[in-house]
Amino acid sequence: MTRDDLRALVRTIPDHPKPGILFRDVTTLLLHAEGFAAAIDALAATVPERPDLIAGMEARGFVVATALALRLEAGLLLIRKDGKLPGATIAEDYALEYGTDRLTMHVDACAPGATVLLADDLIATGGTALAAARLVRRAGAVVIGARFLIDLPDLGGAARLQADGIETQSLLAFE
Ligand code: 5GP
Repeated sequence: MTRDDLRALVRTIPDHPKPGILFRDVTTLLLHAEGFAAAIDALAATVPERPDLIAGMEARGFVVATALALRLEAGLLLIRKDGKLPGATIAEDYALEYGTDRLTMHVDACAPGATVLLADDLIATGGTALAAARLVRRAGAVVIGARFLIDLPDLGGAARLQADGIETQSLLAFE
């Protein structure tokens, strides 16, 4: 499948979650067996060496991270919204357009020095991924990169991650 084929599998929903936003819906890509596999294969091919862990951000990030972890034979690190993880956690807050949100990680989820690749369905401002990177680094692990199905370059998130030293690649860009 070409990049244009994969691009065509992403559905755009206007005015979600609020007026003026064009929501890029990856559920239509995930429904397509060949497209889903091709997208994960293409993302996996951009990872130069096997990380110890793939970190997925709740909830759509879990899908991409799980598929990449199996493909790359890496472990899976779940980074969750506040109040979901059963064990002792560390937390990082990040800014939303209005207010803040919080991501958490089990305090013992990654060993010091472990190599971690971040994964999510989409990067917009980069706030989510940068909060995840702070969690991983607080545990003493090393963020070796970040992978996304979709980048919204106009929102500057990938540039922010690169400026923070996180090698970042995405499969598809939407203006
Ligand atoms: P950021 O923190 O980079 O501004 O926003 C990225 C996060 O919001 C990701 O976890 C992503 O799932 C979600 N997100 C924001 N906009 C969209 C969108 O248009 N489509 C999808 N699928 N997710 C989005």
